[in-house]
Amino acid sequence: MIRFPIKLNELSDRIEQHKPGWLRRAADRTRMIREEGRYDETSSIWSEVKAVYMRLQGNECAYCERTLEPETYGLVEWDVEHFRPKGRISAWDPPDGLSLLGVAPVPVPASNAGYYRLAYHPFNYCACCKPCNSSLKGARFPVEEAYCLDGESPRRMVADEHPYLIYPLGSVDVDPETLIEFHGLSPRAKKRRRWSRRRALVVIAFFRLDDASGRKNLFRERARLLQVVYPQLVKESDQAMSAQERRRATELLSRFTADDSAHANCVRSFVRLFRSNPDRARLLTEATEAWFLTVS
Ligand SMILES: [Zn+2]
Repeated sequence: MIRFPIKLNELSDRIEQHKPGWLRRAADRTRMIREEGRYDETSSIWSEVKAVYMRLQGNECAYCERTLEPETYGLVEWDVEHFRPKGRISAWDPPDGLSLLGVAPVPVPASNAGYYRLAYHPFNYCACCKPCNSSLKGARFPVEEAYCLDGESPRRMVADEHPYLIYPLGSVDVDPETLIEFHGLSPRAKKRRRWSRRRALVVIAFFRLDDASGRKNLFRERARLLQVVYPQLVKESDQAMSAQERRRATELLSRFTADDSAHANCVRSFVRLFRSNPDRARLLTEATEAWFLTVS
């Protein structure tokens, strides 16, 4: 995961520009939902702004960092995901290994209400792929402190609830890249501090980001990228290369590490490793190639 920087007013402007009047209609709906005290609509309007989030994220899934087709033909591949579920919240049981490390979500509320007040909050949406949203996340939202179902400020709710999942848009939450990095093809927790570490481990387990068999395609894509990036790193650092060749390598590396490039966290981690320990990066590349040649 990486962060996609944007301020709320800028996001609102983009929404208004894409769908004039949407924010007003969303505010009207929120008023009615608030009066009801739960989300109970028979129709919704958030898919009308799906493309705004896809563009903001460089057509990259907010959770697994795969890139999908942009809006011309790709809308159907994407979900507008409610980060905090608008209706009833489903329980998520951590794997045994995480329980032993202190991951212990509080029981989900018995109420059907969910985060009804955030059903139309621009900072409660992100665009993500169907495996991440429909197969893995659904209405699950584990927290460590307490559910604040009446909350209306996602930023404040991070402190009050201690959600395990990380919201990647704007500066509502911590930058995911400060908590999660990659070692070759595999994500891992970056910090040793307990809460930061638990969050990273939950995100990795929740979205199966380290499941080389269940999410084989993720691993394949990361492996292909590292095999393309490694020669450019070698070229960039080789004094025997012409200035023009080295500059070209730097340009390509900038492209592969940009926010709108697939698996940017993985590639950036690898680039950092190469620049601090090129021998280790070479060994990892050899291991990646060996895996790529044998995976079916
Ligand atoms: Zn995804």
